[in-house]
This record gives sequence, structure tokens and C-alpha cells, in this order.
Amino acid sequence: MIYLCLAHMSEAGLEQKYIKEAFDTNWVVPLGPNVNAFEKDLEQFVGEGKQVVALSSGTAAVHLALIACGVKPGDEICVQSFTFCASSHPITYLGATPVFIDSEKDTWNMDPELLEHAILDRKAKTGKYPKAIIPVALYGMPYNIARIMEIADKYGIPVIEDAAEGMGSRYKGQVLGTFGQYGVLSFNGNKMITTSGGGALICANEADKNKIMWYATQAREAYPYYQHEQIGYNYRLSNICAGIGRGQMTIVNNHIAHHKHIQALYAQLLKAIPGIQLHEAPNAEYDANYWLCTITLDPSLRIEGQENAYKETVKSAVGGAAGVIHQVDSPTTDCQPNDNVEALRVYLLAHQIEARPLWKPMHKQPVYAQSPAYVNGVSEAIFKVGMCLPSGPMVSDEDVRYIVETIKKAIL
Ligand SMILES: *Cc1c(COP(=O)(O)O)cnc(C)c1O
Repeated sequence: MIYLCLAHMSEAGLEQKYIKEAFDTNWVVPLGPNVNAFEKDLEQFVGEGKQVVALSSGTAAVHLALIACGVKPGDEICVQSFTFCASSHPITYLGATPVFIDSEKDTWNMDPELLEHAILDRKAKTGKYPKAIIPVALYGMPYNIARIMEIADKYGIPVIEDAAEGMGSRYKGQVLGTFGQYGVLSFNGNKMITTSGGGALICANEADKNKIMWYATQAREAYPYYQHEQIGYNYRLSNICAGIGRGQMTIVNNHIAHHKHIQALYAQLLKAIPGIQLHEAPNAEYDANYWLCTITLDPSLRIEGQENAYKETVKSAVGGAAGVIHQVDSPTTDCQPNDNVEALRVYLLAHQIEARPLWKPMHKQPVYAQSPAYVNGVSEAIFKVGMCLPSGPMVSDEDVRYIVETIKKAIL
């Protein structure tokens, strides 16, 4: 089976060395030498004099960034609609409201003009400016951060960059996550590097780093006993997981190079197939890590088995997501990938290739039906024609050739 994006450990086995060190020195806790060293490695990697706090997940990083921006119940946050739910769910943890912003065609990320329109319209309708702006580096593609920062600065709104998928991607040479007030990274099992589960928040300065650290460790006051004046969280990364992270930081640049290599190979091989388009950076200013390689299918393309698409409900989460999913009564919703996209997914799966739909835009999710959304139709249209292909360090050149050959065979 060729999986979408699997974790890959360093050949030198450094992950296990650092974990063993943690056991040998009895640092089996959510702080310690591996955590500190991992943060130093990350600070060096992102550069720009930034500070980094290692956390238990990328979702926790988004949550704490919002708290540090002073988000309170009733506040509004402008967030990219075309994303994984971890970009927007923490807004609701705080009793605040996401305001979803649709995408531009070339990057698939937050449309800056729509963002400015939304900011002004929210001000007109509620009397208040949104409290933060969250652009997302979808599948590793940089957002138009120059324009987004210009707008954010104009209205004095902090930017929280969700670079969970864009670790090491660059805009005009600068690493994503270092432009805004805060930058989010994720080290979940399928991201650019893994700590099994984990994340980090990139901070602009020491004061912000201390604030995040304080909230991440139950917000304690300086007394001999536990004295609490604010609500805190248990969000610090464990010293064991940080050991994995230290090992992974020795190969992060190899991983990024490999993802880019796989993307280039797809570009070369898919060129010959009419009706299939590889999603690529609009120009050299956008240096994507190509965390996942994505394609779009012309709606007129006919795929084997297309007449059977969505005939049956799915029995387990696509992609084998952990945990439990609710069983559903109907195999369809009012917004889903086209029949030919679903047919190609099923065809590839039957040939031992895992492909997945794109993230379904948040403004089309039933749970967010009541949230304001500023839409131009772009993310919904791309969701219906798009698909993610296997990418990452465990995918070989031979795998890519087999995947493209199989796609060719699937086309009628
Ligand atoms: C993975 C991801 C996150 C954070 O994920 P965790 O699994 O909590 O580490 C946040 N935003 C996006 C867009 C992601 O893909």
C-alpha cells in the first residue's frame, strides 16, 4: 500500500537515542532537556530572531495564540475557510466566532481582497474589528503574506499564521510562521516532521514566549502553593516526544527536499495527461514545501466506475483516521467531490494507492452553518474537483510512476 504521507525516522536512529537519554536521566515529564533543545533547533530553523514554545499539538498552538491575542467570548476572528478544522475549532473553544474567508485561485489560500472587505463589513455590522487573522498554508503553499500583513497592519489586527502544513515553506525567502505575531507548527504523525503528536508556537519576542509558556503550564502565580488567578492549560510537549523531534530536526531539510522532488516528478509525468492539473506555486516568490501534492480533475474527465460513485456509505474514516467516526445514513452531502474524483479515489485504493479528497471548506460544514462567511466560490469549486496524492519521504520515484500509470488506466 502506498500511503498519503507517512512518518519517516532518521537513518541514524537519533530519535531513539534522545528518548533513551530521557529515560536514563529520568526526564519522563512535559519539560526537560529534550524540550529545551528541540525549541533551540526550531528557533534556528525558522530564524528571524524568533522564539519557539513546544506544545502538545498544533491545535493547542492555535488555541494559545488566540488567548494571547486577547480573544474573548463574542469576539470575531477572520480565518481561511479552506483548511483543516484545527485552524478554526479553537476559536469556538473560546466562545468566539470564526468569520470564514474564501480563497484566491492561484494559491488556494486566503484572498486578501476578500479579507479586507470582511474586516470593513464586520466593523460596519458589529462596531468592532475582528480580533485576529488566521491565514493557512494549505498543503504547504504559502499565502500572500505581503498583502495580508499590509491589511492587518492597516487595521491593527494581529496575524496568527497557521503554518502547520507549511513547515519550511518560504515567501520571498522568509520562512512561514515568522511574519505574523504568532506562527503555528504541527508535528502530528503525517506532517513534515513528527513527534508522534505535538506542535509549536513561533513567538515574536521573549515576553510573548513567556506568556504562552505560562498559559501552557496551568497559569500559576509565584507562591509556594498553586495559586491561580487565570485559567491555564496542560499543553506543554513531553520530553519523550521532544526527543523524537530532535532526531527529526536532523532530517527536516531532507524531508522538504524529497517532498519537492516528488512534486517535480508528478509535474513531469502528469503533463501528458489531459484533464488533470497539478497544483503548483504561482511564481518563484512562493516556495512551497509541497507537504501534499494535489491535483484537480476536469469535470468532463470520465473515470472507470464513476456510475457507482457514492452508492454506498463509507464504513471507516477515509485515510484511516484514528478513533471513532459517526456512521451516516446517506452516502452523500450537499457539497462533495464530483463523481469522477470519488471514482478515482476508489480506483486508486483498489490499486493499493491512498488518495484523499481536499479539506472541505469550513463555511460548508454544518457545524459552522451560523458563522459569517465571505465567499467567492473558489474553495468550494476546488474542493469538488481536487484530490491529494501520496507525497513525502516514504514515496519513491517508482511509486510516483506507478501512481501516474494507474491514473492513466483509470481514465476512460
Ligand atoms: C495539522 C494541522 C493543524 C494542527 O494539528 P495538530 O494535529 O493538532 O497538531 C492545524 N492546522 C492545520 C491546517 C493542520 O493541517
